[in-house]
Amino acid sequence: MNRRNFLKTGMLGALIAASPVSISALDEATRTSAGKPGRLNLSFRPYELKLRHAFNLARNQRTTTPGVQVQIEYDGLTGYGEASMPPYLGESVDSVTSFLGKLDLAQFSDPFRIEDIHEYMESVAPDNRAAKASVDIALHDLCGKIMNQPWYKIWGLNPDNTPNTSFTISYDANPDEMRKKIEETAPYKVIKVKMGLDHDKELVNALRRHTDVPICVDANQGWNDRRKALDMCHWLAERNCLFVEQPMDKKAIDDTVWLRERSPLPIIADEFIQRLPDVRRAAQAYDGINIKLMKSTGMHEAYKMATMARALGMKVMLGCMTETSCAVSAAAQLAPMVDWADLDGNLLIANDIFDGMKIVDGKVTLTDRPGIGVIPVEV
Ligand code: MG
Repeated sequence: MNRRNFLKTGMLGALIAASPVSISALDEATRTSAGKPGRLNLSFRPYELKLRHAFNLARNQRTTTPGVQVQIEYDGLTGYGEASMPPYLGESVDSVTSFLGKLDLAQFSDPFRIEDIHEYMESVAPDNRAAKASVDIALHDLCGKIMNQPWYKIWGLNPDNTPNTSFTISYDANPDEMRKKIEETAPYKVIKVKMGLDHDKELVNALRRHTDVPICVDANQGWNDRRKALDMCHWLAERNCLFVEQPMDKKAIDDTVWLRERSPLPIIADEFIQRLPDVRRAAQAYDGINIKLMKSTGMHEAYKMATMARALGMKVMLGCMTETSCAVSAAAQLAPMVDWADLDGNLLIANDIFDGMKIVDGKVTLTDRPGIGVIPVEV
């Protein structure tokens, strides 16, 4: 992006941050500031995601998640992308917009050079994974639209093979709130339980009074004693639990190896694993990995990670952050490759600005729409 366009985009971002504007209005504004023809034109704006319920995690609570919406325009087509930045990943609106502002995508005339563009982004800054993911998602959306095919088809995947998604629930000390949360899980075939707090067993017991659907457990590194972690794994195995995600601190590798050797449930890496080189390391201590686009720098590397994990005989789970249907639908393109999906990020927010993949009867359901399969909607 040249300086003139960046300034315009920055001004646009500031305007939109100050007053809610629909994405179709952004389309209009962005088109008027379009860059060079036959080149990739990047624009972006902050967009704060509002959570329908406060998230109570092992180490924090929050009611919003900062995000940045991205567009890449090329020859009359628009690819949509998104960065979502939960605080623990170390990225922010400032770091993402600063990174995106440094990119000169107008140097590229071919959007299919995804590998080259990733190399270029790595040369601009080493981290910024969510920021890179936003560009990667928009590029995939654009390339899919040029080919007029969704990515699961381009990858040769069978959409019938998508798993059910889990729906996340966290503990609430207020019994009425807790009951309301449990009632919201009714349409789903798997419930993901956030643990690592003081009420782990109360939460599962409350849930089991209402439903016997399988659960999966995410301890978010919250169990700091390996014997207690093993006790929990046995207790959960008796309560129709499928697996345990990140039971212990990501640095506690020896303890995780110890736990994995004894646990009746598969142990899945989440915080431990970010990108492709981490997959082989994870194989030493975990039974599977949780791939998320905001960690992997997007769809390009996520596909490689899933392929490598399979080659190593590992289970693969596909997760997300709190995101709009944009990033969730991008992740869903990979869903036929995985054992378990945790693609409820769009269902947890109150201000989704895209229509995309759907959960039908609990199952991740892909459409024939090209690219990542989303269209902008009015909020
Ligand atoms: Mg997790």
